[in-house]
Amino acid sequence: MKEPKYKRILLKLSGESLSTDGEVIDPTILGQYAAEIKKVHDLGVEVAIVIGGGNIFRGASAAKAGIDRVQGDYMGMLATVINGMAVQASLEKQGLYTRMMTAIKVEAVCEPFIRRRAMRHLEKGRIVIFGAGTGNPYFTTDSTASLRAIEIEADVVLKGTRVDGVYSADPEKDPTATRYTNLSFTEAISKGLKIMDTTAFTLCQENNVPIIVFDMNKEGNLAALVSGEDVGMLDGLTIDYYGMQTPISGAASITTPDARTIAIKPFEKGIFAEIEKSIRNSSLGLNPMNDGELIRLSIPPLTEERRRDLVKRVKQEIEVAKINIRNARQDGNNSIKKLKGDGVSEDAIKEAEDKIQKKTDAYITRIDQVFNEKEKDIMSV
Ligand code: UDP
Repeated sequence: MKEPKYKRILLKLSGESLSTDGEVIDPTILGQYAAEIKKVHDLGVEVAIVIGGGNIFRGASAAKAGIDRVQGDYMGMLATVINGMAVQASLEKQGLYTRMMTAIKVEAVCEPFIRRRAMRHLEKGRIVIFGAGTGNPYFTTDSTASLRAIEIEADVVLKGTRVDGVYSADPEKDPTATRYTNLSFTEAISKGLKIMDTTAFTLCQENNVPIIVFDMNKEGNLAALVSGEDVGMLDGLTIDYYGMQTPISGAASITTPDARTIAIKPFEKGIFAEIEKSIRNSSLGLNPMNDGELIRLSIPPLTEERRRDLVKRVKQEIEVAKINIRNARQDGNNSIKKLKGDGVSEDAIKEAEDKIQKKTDAYITRIDQVFNEKEKDIMSV
């Protein structure tokens, strides 16, 4: 098996990433995140997590509501403890060993943060969750992530978001936002990119800890990143490079000079044709233009037709997800039926089958919701 690129990671999750419209902490998201974290842990990577509290309380907004700022910040820090405990519970459900350590003592449920102890836990394969921020008001959990990463000697800070990288503006609000594939700390600070606060950036810059921003909601993204793959639009496309199937990102540098262009600069002239072929044969529907120096991909503006195509593709994915859920129901029901011979009563079997059906219905409803939201999102001009 290929060695993962990072041995010890610090994963930063915002509090808001755990919430959905109806729920402050959504159990489905918790379950998904735990499954993603398990994949990385299974690769032999040591995982530490800093969790935010913005879904429950933020000191700065409390100040606007007339609550003393420092008091509000402590409330925010305690909110991160609640989120951390939720994450801890979902990780343990996956069979992982965990420890939660906090900067403010909450002795009945968490250990106090002690650096050496945290590192020992990680070495033993336990996932360590850092709660209560830095323990100081006027800081954020982004700064906490950078600080703890440095303290525990993590190789990288991975900031999980709902978008696939760092953009010039919030891509959920501004469709012209450009994605940066590579960005220096100085550039990020000078451009005033709001993806992490300046303290968090500066701490990592001074201590040579890279920060990677990635889409935590895309299945398999975290594990791909930790394994050393670039996670982007050309993700998954490979070429034959010296007899080995290699991701395009491993044989070329990829940049996005503007919102509608991807520029690919192959490391060698001889592989232009291979890269073009791989893009043409993919389902991206893009036409590579080669000027001898660069391969450019123009991302077409979303016409009505293209939007409908995208919705169709989402629908296909949704159907696959539904089939998977129904298969899981089938497996569950089969296991229950086997219990009949073991003296389990008809009533208990019926009850278990009802429970499975309810769970199936709940997930199918959730999937339909996701589809409706995505369809709206794609079709809105
Ligand atoms: N906070 C703090 N000091 C810290 C970390 C967090 O005072 O070291 C407080 C602050 O009020 C912040 C709140 O905790 O607004 C929740 O953290 P954050 O806003 O960073 O959470 P996220 O946006 O990541 O969910």
